Amino acid sequence: MPEVVLTCDWTMMSNHNGKEFLGFGTTTPALVLPEAAYRRLFYPEMKTDADGHPQMAPYGLRKVEASLIDGGFDARIIHPSFLSRYMPGEAKVLLISGHDYLALNPPSTTFAGIMKKEPLNRVNFMRMMRQPHVVEARRRGMKIIAGGPCAWQLSPVTRQKLGWIDEFVREIGGIDTVVEGEADLYVREIVGKALRGEPLPEHVIIPPKEAPKVEQISTMRYASVNGLTEIGRGCCRGCSFCSVTQRPTRWYPLEKIEAELAINRSVGITDGLLHSDDVLFYGSPNIMPREEKILPLMQMAKKYYEHVGWSHVAVATLMTKPNLLPKIHDILCTGSQSWWGVEIGMETGSPRLITKAMPGKVAPFRASQWPELVVQAAGLLNDNSVYPACTFIVGLPQETEEDVIKTIDLFDDLWDFKAILVPMFFVPLGHLEKKDWFKRDMVTERQKELMTRALSHGIRQSRDLLNVFFENKEGFSGRAYRTAFASFIGFIEFIAREKGLMSEPKRDSRTPIESPLLHPERIPLPTIPVR
Ligand code: SF4
Repeated sequence: MPEVVLTCDWTMMSNHNGKEFLGFGTTTPALVLPEAAYRRLFYPEMKTDADGHPQMAPYGLRKVEASLIDGGFDARIIHPSFLSRYMPGEAKVLLISGHDYLALNPPSTTFAGIMKKEPLNRVNFMRMMRQPHVVEARRRGMKIIAGGPCAWQLSPVTRQKLGWIDEFVREIGGIDTVVEGEADLYVREIVGKALRGEPLPEHVIIPPKEAPKVEQISTMRYASVNGLTEIGRGCCRGCSFCSVTQRPTRWYPLEKIEAELAINRSVGITDGLLHSDDVLFYGSPNIMPREEKILPLMQMAKKYYEHVGWSHVAVATLMTKPNLLPKIHDILCTGSQSWWGVEIGMETGSPRLITKAMPGKVAPFRASQWPELVVQAAGLLNDNSVYPACTFIVGLPQETEEDVIKTIDLFDDLWDFKAILVPMFFVPLGHLEKKDWFKRDMVTERQKELMTRALSHGIRQSRDLLNVFFENKEGFSGRAYRTAFASFIGFIEFIAREKGLMSEPKRDSRTPIESPLLHPERIPLPTIPVR
């Protein structure tokens, strides 16, 4: 019986039907259809053993669990439906984690703002914390420590700004400590204090300079959701709205990554994701991809997984060495794999906004080249069977109407791009954390046009992508998945048409997407030396 229990809510303790991208569905409210239908589509129940140990758990939680076990603590991740076995009673400390506890991050804020209803992630997190056995354990003295990428949502600062969060925290009996930052090492200190009954700090922010070194980061003990395996941490591009950029860049050696791939494979995971804030930077000390580092990593991943996907990559990184992607394609798209997915922060179509808010995003190119780079990167990606989810930010403090028009123009240029374009309301993070949230009632007509264009593009492309997406699900289950999701897309289209939220490119002559491999002269390649 563990005395330290780690958990997260049901929307996170799921493999999202084997497709990490479907996790986005947990950031929407349950509209018209019952919550159970959304659960089936986007966050089906995770399998567990009889004691509530999940077969897979979110990667970040696995890292904290491993650190505690390595530090000699009796700690385990428990499925949220099994918490009543451990509390009130054995569990002395409850560690909670999440990506977006209270739906304050993009894209939850965007969906909640438009649909005027609480997103599923918030509903499920609050439900988990309000379970009578959790509240009773808390009343009897169980310590609660909150962490994860969205820990800031429960911090005293946010609670002061948003009274409803403060009310919720009081209702569940309070949270002892909120920890922001990379807590791989600190978690042992705070849990030790909690078990010894020492006073706990209300709020801890671990500064980037205290981020753990590679050799101090534990190797996970049990499998992660969708075989997600970290290859490194940090990003050097310096975007003003991003908190990742404040951390030092660190890359794991191949052996450390391989150990985690092997753990995932040992429980039968065949499709997995490599995670970093820019996978193509693997092993690089600067903004130039290192072919001699990235290709061996892909080859190794392919030894363990039949289907390898990536978490994130940047447009400029792709375009810095455009000949690298076909080589990676030839390694990954073998056997049963014919494509892969990745998330890309495209953010805007405006070179002006790039210069103002994210100059590092475009390096080593010029900001004026940004829309052209994005269109060519789209061609490069699709030519090499990569079908991404591309995020855009709406409502940055520096944004003007002209910037929004440029993004709409870019969407029109990407009309035939096999991808999902995801506009997200600005949330004050990173260097902009003191700015205000962007809210629904602040949406201008032009921003509304941008959102409807993205929605129309998404509905159009997602029908095509459905077959690709579920290509490895054969027989009845494959047909059932395709039918269920096709019906869901049809349902979204119906609602969008009813509400006048569909729109098409207005310009007659859209820029065709062209591969830079066919037009290498169009983007001058950088001359930054590789160190
Ligand atoms: S490129 Fe992405 S991860 Fe890096 S700083 Fe910018 S937004 Fe953050």
